[in-house]
Amino acid sequence: MKLGVLALQGGIVEHVHMLRRAAERLGVSAEVIEVRKPSHVEGLRALVIPGGESTAMYRLGKRTGVAEPLREAILEGLPTLGTCAGAALLAKEVEDRQSGRKYEPLLAVADFKVVRNYFGRQRESFEAELEVKGIGKFRGVFIRAPVIVPRSDSVAVLSEYKGEPVMVKQGNVIATAFHPELTSNTKIHEMLIEMAR
Ligand code: GLN
Repeated sequence: MKLGVLALQGGIVEHVHMLRRAAERLGVSAEVIEVRKPSHVEGLRALVIPGGESTAMYRLGKRTGVAEPLREAILEGLPTLGTCAGAALLAKEVEDRQSGRKYEPLLAVADFKVVRNYFGRQRESFEAELEVKGIGKFRGVFIRAPVIVPRSDSVAVLSEYKGEPVMVKQGNVIATAFHPELTSNTKIHEMLIEMAR
């Protein structure tokens, strides 16, 4: 099956690598491609939107024209995992905790609000042992991380850190505030591929 990583900016190669390993572990024969332009969206069975800088990805998503077909595919059910800044691209609402500023969402397909830079300067990056529903223990690597707040009952919280939602799922969309591609644990990528099977 064809799996894609949105390749505008950010942690692209790490996710390509994780998807390959996850597919291997599941015994799924997969081709992993980098998604940069509208024609790359056709035939995709699952998609990862990496972390990085959401404002840069926003600009490139608009300029390349890739946002529109992606939005349609996700609304039609394409299994999608957004990590950190990638979660912000999926959200219907994005704001920055430090400045209070609101951002235009790129894809606006998921009913959650991403609050950027939630953990502030003191805790710019940190690691924490999380408990993830359906997976169990998972090492969360947080880098200038947001929180992901559900705006409706159709969004399930799969993990919390200190009572704040850091992983959610709404239908075909999974979002994490942390970076699963920076650990050796492929379970979250496997969860995505399972949704595509
Ligand atoms: N704060 C960054 C943003 O919203 C996200 C950081 C990250 O993806 N590690 O763009």
